[in-house]
Amino acid sequence: MREDTTSTRSREQRATLAEANHILVDQGILDAFGHVSVRSADDPDTFLLARNLAPGLVQADDVQLFTLDGTTDDPRPPYLERHIHGEIYRARPDVHAVVHSHSPAVIPFGVAGTPLRPVLHMAGFLAPEAPVFEARDTLGSGSDLLVRTPQSGVALAGALGRSSVVLMRGHGATAVGASVEEAVYRAVYTEVNARAQAEALRLGGCTYLTDEEAAATVATNTPQLPRAWGFWRDRAHRP
Ligand SMILES: [Zn+2]
Repeated sequence: MREDTTSTRSREQRATLAEANHILVDQGILDAFGHVSVRSADDPDTFLLARNLAPGLVQADDVQLFTLDGTTDDPRPPYLERHIHGEIYRARPDVHAVVHSHSPAVIPFGVAGTPLRPVLHMAGFLAPEAPVFEARDTLGSGSDLLVRTPQSGVALAGALGRSSVVLMRGHGATAVGASVEEAVYRAVYTEVNARAQAEALRLGGCTYLTDEEAAATVATNTPQLPRAWGFWRDRAHRP
């Protein structure tokens, strides 16, 4: 595993990843925990992810390079759950970025048996509903729920399937995208949708987007990703 860390693409990806960490903290998706990665533009069988560090503190120099089995030459301690990223990149060639969070409003949908479904036009990517990963199926009933082995990463990637987001029972969620901007957008609006859906259900009911509406909103919103990214990045770095 060799990487020219001075290459322009590598430097840009590391800087983007640091920005993504700061945006996700500012948006309340990550706190002291959670992480975001990007598939390397230099080698698609590797990915970039920060070392074991609170997301708000991540800078470009903290980013490590991993092979898909979660190994790195970097001696600094990595995140325990790096296998979330590696096994999703292995299973989904279309995925170029992954956000793993403990997104607070999403947690109830992973434990209550109520599917998380798109209720607003910014979250059509959730259609028809977000699948739920049950750690017990792989790890038994005594685990700490963390995806700390390649085997549980494979199981998580299997639960994700072709979806954009997978909920993780009693733990959090993982959102994927074709770019860092898209994965971050999906992580943010998964949380927004969860809050709106829970509030609607408290009010007495919920009208969900049809699959056709969901597809139409995704087509409209995808070209707008740079607008969200630029605003969130500016906001996150405002003194
Ligand atoms: Zn986690």
